[in-house]
Amino acid sequence: MSGVDPYAPQSGDAGYDVVSYDLTLDYRVRTNRLQGTAVIAAVAAEDLTSVVLDLVGLRATRVRVGGAPARFSAAAGKLRVAGPRPLAPGEPFEVEVAYAGAPGPRRSRWGAVGWEELTDGALVAGQPIGAPTWFPCNDRPDDRARMTLRITVDDGYTVAATGVAGAVSRRGGRVTSTFTSDVPTATYLAAVHVGRYRTGALSGSGAAGVPAVTVTAPPVLAAAADRAFAPVPEMLRVFDRLFGPYPQEACALVVTADELEIPLEAQGLAVFGMNHLVPAAQRLIAHEIAHQWFGNSVGIARWSDIWLNEGFACYAEWLWSEASGGRSADDCARGHHERLTAKPQDLLLTDPGPDDMFDDRVYKRGALTLHALRRSIGDDRFFDLVRGWTAAHRHALVGTDDFRAAVRAAGGADAVELLSLWIDRAEVPSLP
Ligand SMILES: [Zn+2]
Repeated sequence: MSGVDPYAPQSGDAGYDVVSYDLTLDYRVRTNRLQGTAVIAAVAAEDLTSVVLDLVGLRATRVRVGGAPARFSAAAGKLRVAGPRPLAPGEPFEVEVAYAGAPGPRRSRWGAVGWEELTDGALVAGQPIGAPTWFPCNDRPDDRARMTLRITVDDGYTVAATGVAGAVSRRGGRVTSTFTSDVPTATYLAAVHVGRYRTGALSGSGAAGVPAVTVTAPPVLAAAADRAFAPVPEMLRVFDRLFGPYPQEACALVVTADELEIPLEAQGLAVFGMNHLVPAAQRLIAHEIAHQWFGNSVGIARWSDIWLNEGFACYAEWLWSEASGGRSADDCARGHHERLTAKPQDLLLTDPGPDDMFDDRVYKRGALTLHALRRSIGDDRFFDLVRGWTAAHRHALVGTDDFRAAVRAAGGADAVELLSLWIDRAEVPSLP
């Protein structure tokens, strides 16, 4: 890790690396009251006299370092903790933060992100800087950590969260659920969903090479969710063949009782609004599931490389369209190429700038870049490249230069030159 991310300079600290977050949360839906304890195990990356965590809209009430009470101060979304003594590079340490408050989204140049109340529940939209609205963290995409979440809510509510679901216990009208992630998870990909849900297994999943998929939805939407997600087992089979083995420990699909503007990916999980349970939204299901390979397993260290996540996820939509008997990927590509060339050609895929990092042109041009590569090196070499990419960087961090190297290995200098036309220049090249 080095320096600040120029797209999110307010977030994270390069002075230490988090190894694990252990969160114990108590949430009251009716009053939107969150009480938590976060135990953060980390290693100093440089000489540290204090540890700076991101925490937004919530108040730390007690902090310990290595079990001893520590002094702390909070300002502008930062919690500064003074340890009992300076830390040397490589030295492990543990910070425990007790905190509380009424969580809510934070304002950002990307709109409101973070913890969000629903009509009768809550969700987390962490990307890109929403994580500190529900737990103190080192909120940068290149500091991934293991995570344990223990969440207590009122009986009648169900929690879905990132990680493998463990035991559920009930006591005094309250219910506690536990989720454990042993894969390194970026803070923006951690999520909690609370609602009057029921969780069940998706039929056709959990056997014959298809990972077990759970669906968490309001009972009244269960039938619609089963219909909308019926293609998911086949989708996972197709993506397994094209991208390599499913890389996550869980595959949880959540449907809210509210409408959502867009679905959201998290580690081993994706959330959809009730409005996404329609055939026209099937491409979005393919998109979010593809993120389990691209973004959530193979992860970007810097936000400027977001095209590596979104380009692949968008291309997966076209690949699924073709595999499921819809328009061919080439057809989709040609249609989107025509639309893209009609838009302003002033965007660099390798550095779109923070305001345009979620611009649709990043998604479509990213997918078109992959399609152009595929056309030029052929299907066999292209999909070998993709599977090699997900295998070599499984649950690791990448940048665009890593992709250049993979393209060079797969297709030589010509392929790298073609790639460069697509990602290093603003003008949209023609499709091979
Ligand atoms: Zn996406």
